[in-house]
Amino acid sequence: MRILIIEDEAKTAKFLKKGFGESGFVVEIAKDGLDGLHLALEIDFDVIILDLMLPHIDGWQVLERLRQADRQSPVLVLTALDAVHERVRGFELGADDYLVKPFAFSELLARIRSLLRRASPRQQETIRLADLEIDTLRQRATRAGQRLYLTSKEFLLLSLLARHAGEVLSRTLIAEAVWDMNFDSDTNVVDVNMRRLRGKVDEPFSLKLIHTVRGAGYVMETER
Ligand code: CA
Repeated sequence: MRILIIEDEAKTAKFLKKGFGESGFVVEIAKDGLDGLHLALEIDFDVIILDLMLPHIDGWQVLERLRQADRQSPVLVLTALDAVHERVRGFELGADDYLVKPFAFSELLARIRSLLRRASPRQQETIRLADLEIDTLRQRATRAGQRLYLTSKEFLLLSLLARHAGEVLSRTLIAEAVWDMNFDSDTNVVDVNMRRLRGKVDEPFSLKLIHTVRGAGYVMETER
């Protein structure tokens, strides 16, 4: 689970990073509104914690621009502002929950978990596209009933593409999703692994499912 914390107060940010890290989250911190907005537009976080009083652009604007850009990651607003009209404004702008500082970490964690449950009420177990079938629980994939023997990274890559069938995914996004957040070397590893994956998933079959979109990335679909 990937969480973005947009918080300018270093002490709070550090405390949250430690707490969520220990609770099994991959944590990214943004120290101001602009940085936070850019990160949130670039990466699909599972959940976002948003402070309101922030340098550059405030939390309201971050929220508004995120929703305008159709980013639907659940957002919990964490703030010292507690007036009723502030809360109402937050919800109107598309906040999913609201917690007032000072807070207990256990309460924050419980609320975040509840937001995550609401956002994905059930994990999809089987993904199908044409004759491709991916069983995400048993980590098995087949095409036309034939088992595909994939490494765990190849399986992740395949599931990512299939979950977003029809969407072009950039190399950066793929690298971050499959090889972890702070993937900073070049994205060549994506191409290399994609080639291997295609060798297993597409080469033996006449219907190709994985396509390269020049200058943009990769897409999975039945025709292109
Ligand atoms: Ca602040």
